[in-house]
Amino acid sequence: MSRYRAVFRRALSAGIIAAGLATAPLWGAAPATRVPLPKSPAPGEEPLSVDLSPRAPRRAPEAGTAAFADRAILLCWHSFLGDPSLPTDFSLAEARAQLDSLAALGYRFPSFSDLAAGRLEGARNIVVTIDDAHRTVPSAVDRVFSERGIRPSLFVYPAVVGTTSFSMDDANLRRLSAAGSLVGAHGYHHLFVTEDLFKRDRAAFMKEIYKAKEKTEALSSLPVLAYAYPFGALSAVTKEELARAGYAYGVAVKPGFVYGKAVLDDELELPRLVVTRDNWPEILAMLRRNAR
Ligand SMILES: [Zn+2]
Repeated sequence: MSRYRAVFRRALSAGIIAAGLATAPLWGAAPATRVPLPKSPAPGEEPLSVDLSPRAPRRAPEAGTAAFADRAILLCWHSFLGDPSLPTDFSLAEARAQLDSLAALGYRFPSFSDLAAGRLEGARNIVVTIDDAHRTVPSAVDRVFSERGIRPSLFVYPAVVGTTSFSMDDANLRRLSAAGSLVGAHGYHHLFVTEDLFKRDRAAFMKEIYKAKEKTEALSSLPVLAYAYPFGALSAVTKEELARAGYAYGVAVKPGFVYGKAVLDDELELPRLVVTRDNWPEILAMLRRNAR
């Protein structure tokens, strides 16, 4: 059982139900994070276009395929202007249609906190995340996601919250957090937080991790334990520093499932797909296969 997930559970449940959940190793005590580190994308390369076919998990436990039955796919939206020239932007009507077609396939929408607490059942689970704190996010949450009982997790970078015309303000972020949306960090200035930055500008690298946490916690008035790597870019050194800073989860951009059983996941590099106009048909086709 990973200590990260145990930490997160404790934070979520204030120690009430966590103790029992966090004590039973599943396939021995090997931490989920002790695995070879995958190659990180080069700076400048936002991995929006990805191979969407589900991959076999890194670790093949003796328990067999039943262990992989409870799983979720993390999806990431960005903004809701309804501007067809922006690849990651959708209108409210388009977002509604997307969610309704997922629901029609039998998908449920557990929150990131459900996932962290191991509350995943079956294969048809979508965890909704929204990155970058765009000014259109609050009304999309109110008018599209909440209407369907979905509490999206919001990954924000504090440099823009309440300071630019394209971002939501502190009050809206606080309101959404209080209404049940998990708020996670997404860098401070949304830099490529990679080994290159670590070597080139150590202070900037640290600020993207530590100052981001501190400021996001001040904005949400809650501990911030989840971090989405800006541009999906990361390095081994990024994951190490994230753990040192006290984050329990790192969210990457790559195909794959997050499993109900923590030992199957690399919690500092959870897979997630960015929804774009181009890849939505492919994502939907993949989710249709997964639903069978
Ligand atoms: Zn971003």
